[in-house]
Amino acid sequence: MFMQYELPFEVDALEPVIDRETVKVHHGKHHVTYTMTFNTLAEKAGMQDRDVTEILKDLDSVDDEQLRTGLRNNGGGFFNHNLYFEMLTPGGKALPGGKLADRINEDLGGFYKMKEDMTLMALGQFGSGWAWLSVTHEGRLVISKTLNQDNDYSLKTGNVPIFTIDVWEHAYYLKYKNLRADYVNAIWDIVDWEAVEKRFLSVVKDYS
Ligand code: MN
Repeated sequence: MFMQYELPFEVDALEPVIDRETVKVHHGKHHVTYTMTFNTLAEKAGMQDRDVTEILKDLDSVDDEQLRTGLRNNGGGFFNHNLYFEMLTPGGKALPGGKLADRINEDLGGFYKMKEDMTLMALGQFGSGWAWLSVTHEGRLVISKTLNQDNDYSLKTGNVPIFTIDVWEHAYYLKYKNLRADYVNAIWDIVDWEAVEKRFLSVVKDYS
């Protein structure tokens, strides 16, 4: 059974950056639906005992096109939202430190340059999708964007995502309407950099 990430805070705790109604609908409806549908489809494909990341990397083994597309969209939706919500926290937490900060400086030109570039990446995603901060298999950081519910696994980039920004309209439309830039600029205030760093360290320890 694939379990949805449970919010360790109240639905209004991300205000004013993300309003109560958006969190309720986004986590309580959209993410729930991706999770339920993914569970159903994974079972149908006989893949229910595998890790979601392994399933997304192995979509080519699913012959039925409709099932394959369903797994890609709903497995992606399940995983991407788990990562998204896990890296957000009321009021945010201290800027990146330690080894994560070193990599951001070295690979992405420092925190403010990374923030600027990832913001532009998020704004440049035409239509629905995601912006990503990921670790390559050399342990370096890269930023990217994907369409729909695609991610590093379904696209087989070989990278591991550690932070993401949802730029589907359902992530911001109730509060920000068409102003995606205002939402993306504001989200930096609620990032849990301790959680991102923890994830980064758990990824790179496998490489050393
Ligand atoms: Mn979403």
